[in-house]
Amino acid sequence: MQNFTLKACRLCPRDCGADRTSGTGYCAQGASLRVAKAMIHQGEEPCLLPAGAVFFVGCNLRCVFCQNYEISHPDSKRGGEGEYGGPSREFCSEHTEPSPVHGSGELGSEHREPSPVSGADLAALFLKLQEEGAATIDLVTPTPWLLQIREALTIAKKQGLHLPVVFNCGGYESAEALRLMEGLVDVYMPDLKYFSSEASLKYSGAADYFDRADEALREMYRQVGPVQFGKSSAAGQGKPKEERTGQDSPAGIGQRQDIMQKGLLVRHLVLPGLYKDSVRLMDYLADTFEPETIRLSLLAQYTPFGSLERFPELRRRITSFEYEKVLQRADERGLEGYRQFRNAATMAMRPDFTNGGLMTSVR
Ligand code: SF4
Repeated sequence: MQNFTLKACRLCPRDCGADRTSGTGYCAQGASLRVAKAMIHQGEEPCLLPAGAVFFVGCNLRCVFCQNYEISHPDSKRGGEGEYGGPSREFCSEHTEPSPVHGSGELGSEHREPSPVSGADLAALFLKLQEEGAATIDLVTPTPWLLQIREALTIAKKQGLHLPVVFNCGGYESAEALRLMEGLVDVYMPDLKYFSSEASLKYSGAADYFDRADEALREMYRQVGPVQFGKSSAAGQGKPKEERTGQDSPAGIGQRQDIMQKGLLVRHLVLPGLYKDSVRLMDYLADTFEPETIRLSLLAQYTPFGSLERFPELRRRITSFEYEKVLQRADERGLEGYRQFRNAATMAMRPDFTNGGLMTSVR
């Protein structure tokens, strides 16, 4: 296996080779791990709830339609260009969708700016989330921090972390780097954003997005295998489904206490004008994996965010026609999982990252 180091970072397909101990790469992150927020999160897929979400700072994709630029690039203003250039874009995170948040208990102190966090600190945070009733540990935009997260998970597991660990990423991953997480991650939850390289180049500056995502998803599946569900061991688990998200779920999946223990849960956000691309992705998933062995979370909540001056085609919500076409193909191909109501999201449903904090209420 390749020897990964922050001295010449190749943790993702950007393959910058940047020395992150003295500078940054495309993701604009140095060597000090930073956490934008950690919270008990009720806005993820029902089979992960309540999620002990840890939102990491930084992103290796920078999608122009990003909803969460405050966490992906808290040091920057929206609309800038990074050291590594790339296509015209605004700032983004791997986690493209606004997540509905229904509040959590007040869990700790607030900090306005993300501070550096050590591996031991991060391990303690995971254990704190477990103690507070999380059913899963939800690592949001973990890609630039694989080395530190691996260290933290190793420590936390030795100290009693037993919850399923969810790798919640943008899908633009290095399959080889993912091997670092083998045995530490239980559930992979990648976005699968684009089939077309034209679209991935235009909106995320990554012409090779689909090819890299294909390799990554195969590696994820190799590690975790077919989906497995089980009862949650979390003390705080068990809000009724309708209180949790704008998502619907088929019978037998994600119902109360059915927590995903292992597997691949692929998210796809349908974008305006790209439903044919989405349909091709549904075919790809069904052709590549036995459909019943993975889960699909189909998201309809795209909301225009920022000026999008150079991307007028993205300045609208998706239509019922577009969403129905994708839904229909997913159903035809036997892809089970979650289907979001088309009116599920508004910008008011985004987690508020402006107050920062490692364990804060977001009510
Ligand atoms: S994680 Fe960041 S620095 Fe490392 S290769 Fe990816 S974009 Fe470049």
